[in-house]
Amino acid sequence: MLTNNVKIAYFSMEIGIDAEIPTYAGGLGILAGDTIRSAADLKVPLAAVTLVHRKGYFFQHFDGSGRQQEEPVNWVVDDFLTDTEIRAKVTLEGREVHIRAWKYEVTASNGFVIPVYFLDTDLPENSPWDRAVTHYLYGGDSHYRFCQEVVLGIGGIRILRALGHQNLRRFHMNEGHASLLTLELLQERLNQEGRTENEPDDMEAVRKQCVFTTHTPVPAGHDQFPLDLVNRVLADREACCITDSICHEGRLNMTFLALTFSHYINGVAKKHGEISRHMFASYDVDSITNGVRPQSWVSESFAKLFDLHIPGWRQDNFSLRYALSIPEEEIWEAHQKSKRLLIDYANREVNAGFDKDILTIGFARRAAPYKRADLVFEDVERLRKIARDGGKFQIVFAGKAHPQNQDGIELIQRIIKMKTTLIDEIPIAYLPNYDMNLGKLMTAGVDVWLNTPLPPMEASGTSGMKAALNGVPSLSVMDGWWIEGCIEGVTGWAIRADGHTQQKSGDRAKDAGSLYTKLEHSILPLFYANRSRFIEIMRHAIALNGSFFNTQRMVQQYVLKAYFP
Ligand SMILES: *Cc1c(COP(=O)(O)O)cnc(C)c1O
Repeated sequence: MLTNNVKIAYFSMEIGIDAEIPTYAGGLGILAGDTIRSAADLKVPLAAVTLVHRKGYFFQHFDGSGRQQEEPVNWVVDDFLTDTEIRAKVTLEGREVHIRAWKYEVTASNGFVIPVYFLDTDLPENSPWDRAVTHYLYGGDSHYRFCQEVVLGIGGIRILRALGHQNLRRFHMNEGHASLLTLELLQERLNQEGRTENEPDDMEAVRKQCVFTTHTPVPAGHDQFPLDLVNRVLADREACCITDSICHEGRLNMTFLALTFSHYINGVAKKHGEISRHMFASYDVDSITNGVRPQSWVSESFAKLFDLHIPGWRQDNFSLRYALSIPEEEIWEAHQKSKRLLIDYANREVNAGFDKDILTIGFARRAAPYKRADLVFEDVERLRKIARDGGKFQIVFAGKAHPQNQDGIELIQRIIKMKTTLIDEIPIAYLPNYDMNLGKLMTAGVDVWLNTPLPPMEASGTSGMKAALNGVPSLSVMDGWWIEGCIEGVTGWAIRADGHTQQKSGDRAKDAGSLYTKLEHSILPLFYANRSRFIEIMRHAIALNGSFFNTQRMVQQYVLKAYFP
């Protein structure tokens, strides 16, 4: 086994490293998991830190009226993670809170190991309230969240030191939740030099070590906490480091904290980098476009096909470009196998009545209102007419709404009601409990991947990248990664190609109109009457998008631009 002499610490509030470890809510966690696995493939000396979220990100089911019901997932931590026996402490409101570090090892096929540490305060020596601090991902109120961020940022640094990681040269904050780590690094420096007041040099020394990836294109989405809360929770020593530059209107803004203390800052797609540069005009913001890890998201049938035609695609994801020479029939056959698995699953789970020969459209992601899962139902009469005159199609949905997001919960309910409204005309299924396994099944099993966020809200989006790897083209609003990935009629289709210019975005009726036009005049005719052209698009999705929108390329860019320029 190769030893990983860890130089980079990667912090993320959520990490989706394994479908059975429910410590992720969506794209941020999936990205973290794929990043870590690709870093191991590339032998990048990294360790990751997150919280254990003992209650998981809930188990979802629906009542008779289609209303989401949530249950905690009581996963058995020690079935998956090993106790490092290492402990650290943080102070919350003057109380000492003990932290345990669990470890999960990601071992690449080349033998390289990356440790992932899951921090846990559920120890008998802590009070009942403190024990629950690492229970719920994105649960509770802002006080609870801030305590979680203290454990992640400050506790995370202390745990890494206690574990013996003394050669850390870079600290990567995947979103602002971990940005309190910067204050701990500052404090370490003062302690080492026996000082109590920090000097400009100290800040510069911390900046040299820190990297920040922002994921949120709207100001309201950034984590902020009232200063009285911050001062109450933090011990005085940390609070003294919080200066005016990172406080706005009496609140500590975690994004500004991370921005202030990072030498390299990036958005997660070109467009998102641009938006972030406008939002944070006094900072230098670059962009590194997200990716997904092909080995993790390619269906079994496509993995076999790639093994046959592109040996080495796992080691070298760029070589997926050679998918261009895979014969059409073989692409189609591999896709039919993946599709069959999804259709059977949907029929078995929710009695979907799906037909394997019908064009299948997929939509799955967190049910946040800006993702507009119901845009496709904007004009139900027109949709009916397309199904009647243009060709049959069926639509499969999945996604969880945050338990406190009533709009998201109602959005799901409306979609589930559509199943009854459109029964016999357009088969519709809403699959419960969206997770990594279901994500893989859906992105590989549908014929077209639909994406309808309200621009410019989608920082990147990644599920369309998973689809592309499986030869599934996207029909998407021009936002996030799709601005870079869409070549009209070649890798998929744009909903309103002009939609990403500020003035024109976000008109629901126009966006839906464009969606219908593409479906009726481009997609259905190709699918039913020009299959060979349709398969050509599938092949381009793999060759042009799968070969680029992957975490192997992305991690290489982080190494060159952010970690060791
Ligand atoms: C890929 C994935 C996501 C992220 O999808 P986006 O398109 O980036 O929103 C969220 N949840 C699960 C379970 C996934 O597999």
